[in-house]
Amino acid sequence: MSQLEKRYEGKAKILYATDDPAVLLTVYKDDATAFNAQKRGSIQGKGVINCTIATHLFQLLEQQGIPTHFIDMPEAGQMRVRAVQIIPLEVVVRNIAAGSLCRETGLPVGMVLPQPLVEFYYKRDDLGDPLLTPDRLAIMQLATAEQVEQMRTLALRINSILQDFFGQCDITLVDFKLEFGLDATGQLLLADEISPDTCRLWNRAESDPNRRVLDKDRFRHDLGDVEAAYQQVLARVLAQRGAGA
Ligand code: UDP
Repeated sequence: MSQLEKRYEGKAKILYATDDPAVLLTVYKDDATAFNAQKRGSIQGKGVINCTIATHLFQLLEQQGIPTHFIDMPEAGQMRVRAVQIIPLEVVVRNIAAGSLCRETGLPVGMVLPQPLVEFYYKRDDLGDPLLTPDRLAIMQLATAEQVEQMRTLALRINSILQDFFGQCDITLVDFKLEFGLDATGQLLLADEISPDTCRLWNRAESDPNRRVLDKDRFRHDLGDVEAAYQQVLARVLAQRGAGA
């Protein structure tokens, strides 16, 4: 590992070059950040847990025809991915009101949305990742109009696949964030990760608003038992995938 050239270190992952320029190795970290990195910490075992969850979800999506950057998981906590140019947009899909949607609109936490909401945020920590309007998106040219439509369509398809899958795990998929990238041929691929760091996941067996949380909100809001919650998601994903989902 030490001989590999580090390409990029993000908040939750490190990207290394490999012998093949079209392939990168992603190493998932235990580091956790929230509120635009103002809160920092570590969740024991998170790297391995998130990498394993993301592997299963990428495989599930690939089986359903969604193009992703995933290649394989050569070792626990490590994922080989196709090299892409990341489009600097965070594509958020919401089924239930939570987080910034409630803070910014006053909608009550837990309100079931009449239809899934797809939002595009500009991935710029220094600007606080602002929500973009369609007109701003068009002016900023971060992606073509066609790519924006492709991302919206893919995000909704991904949402319905993941909603079904997490439903089978007895987990409600509240909302999640996706990132897309373009490979050397210009193909749009789902990139980054899908894990309890990037999704809101509520345990359907719990009605208590704190106890039901199985995602990074446990870390964000100091709810405790963060690692146990991530382990719980992993166990349910593995059980469901083992059951042939
Ligand atoms: N999210 C993420 N990375 C970000 C911002 C949001 O993974 O930089 C995820 C977050 O975990 C949640 C969804 O996107 O599942 C919507 O987040 P929201 O806009 O509500 O922001 P927050 O309340 O976390 O500030």
